Amino acid sequence: MSKLSWGMIGGGEGSQIGGAHRVAATLDGAFTFAAGALDIDPEKGRDFAVRLGAGQDRAYGDWREMLDGESSRPDRVDLVTVATPNNTHFEITKAFLQAGFNVLCEKPMTTTIAEAEEIVAIARESGRLCAVNYGYSGYPLVRQMQAMVAGGELGRVRLVVAEFAHGFHADAADADNPRVRWRYDPAQAGISSVVADCGSHALHMACFVIGQEVTTLSADFASCIEGRKLEDDALIAFRMNGGTVGRLWTSAVAVGRMHGLTLQVFGEKGGLRWAQEQPNQLIWTPLNEASRILERGSSELLPAAQRASRLAIGHTEGMFGAFGNLYANLAEAIHAQKEGGRPDKQNLSFPTAEEGLHSIAAIHAAVASAKAGGTWVAVER
Ligand code: NAD
Repeated sequence: MSKLSWGMIGGGEGSQIGGAHRVAATLDGAFTFAAGALDIDPEKGRDFAVRLGAGQDRAYGDWREMLDGESSRPDRVDLVTVATPNNTHFEITKAFLQAGFNVLCEKPMTTTIAEAEEIVAIARESGRLCAVNYGYSGYPLVRQMQAMVAGGELGRVRLVVAEFAHGFHADAADADNPRVRWRYDPAQAGISSVVADCGSHALHMACFVIGQEVTTLSADFASCIEGRKLEDDALIAFRMNGGTVGRLWTSAVAVGRMHGLTLQVFGEKGGLRWAQEQPNQLIWTPLNEASRILERGSSELLPAAQRASRLAIGHTEGMFGAFGNLYANLAEAIHAQKEGGRPDKQNLSFPTAEEGLHSIAAIHAAVASAKAGGTWVAVER
């Protein structure tokens, strides 16, 4: 299959997430970096894009210039990744979808529900792909969990418990550091801090793994550091449309926790436990039996996990590979779009704009619930 060409907006030199996208997009050789508007500073962005391999004419100073430039090319990029700050996702994603590009947008997809609905509608009308980077759903053992639940190995899922807790905003003496402070300023961060930033990943993973959506929730938010206007800790109880009961804890003040994304799934016939910091092991406990460790790369894993894995058992494989699986699956869909063939349905796992919308609706419901003292609030999308 021919290589696909890929462009990026944001994710400039020194950004937190840009490098992960660049490794992931090129990991399996499916995409070549061809164009970019990588930085808020036009010159820095152009310079970096050229160093990454874009031609001078495709190293753009800003995203509007890139939209014009790429729209008029016969060899326009096959996929655009949007990795800019949150409040710009909507207008950039909308403009590129409307111009007929496929888009992978960083999370959160938008800041309001109305904008998210608009993106879903535009993606449907345009027939283009719009994916959202809940990239941790690409871990092989997360896909193993999803396949085990879908295959009925756990029976009915009674409980799902998700966590995403870190401790990097716990120092009260550092709370005025501009790199931390903006995250708790509603004018810059929006209506939610840690729930939108971290909790949304855990909630997406819960939905992905058990194949259900959140219907109602009750949230308790806390701002543990004086002066913060947004939450730095939250506990959310939720119910799902397949009858599963859910619990979510997310925190930015959990001193000693690093990138504490974990998922536990408890069904009638067994339980699963997985933690992103030990991504190569999944604990599986069939009812009334001893726990077993399922190792990434093992031949006993289900096909979805085997396909998502690149290294032999025992070698560390992590976030690049997880994001890489989203890119690989997007490449499968784009080849089918371009060449008219049928995509392999087994290789089409990436979070969609609809999932991005559900996530935004859940964040808004959590904020409303917390403001109302924990009242149960419906998540309608
Ligand atoms: P960052 O501040 O580290 O980097 C942002 C980059 O975008 C910088 O290079 C900046 O120059 C550039 N930029 C800003 N405005 C731009 C514009 N209008 N046009 C072009 N470039 C622009 O931010 P980050 O932490 O890398 O986060 C970026 C996005 O990625 C956020 O939406 C964040 O929520 C998301 N993110 C997702 C994950 C994940 O796991 N999926 C992890 C971290 C961040």
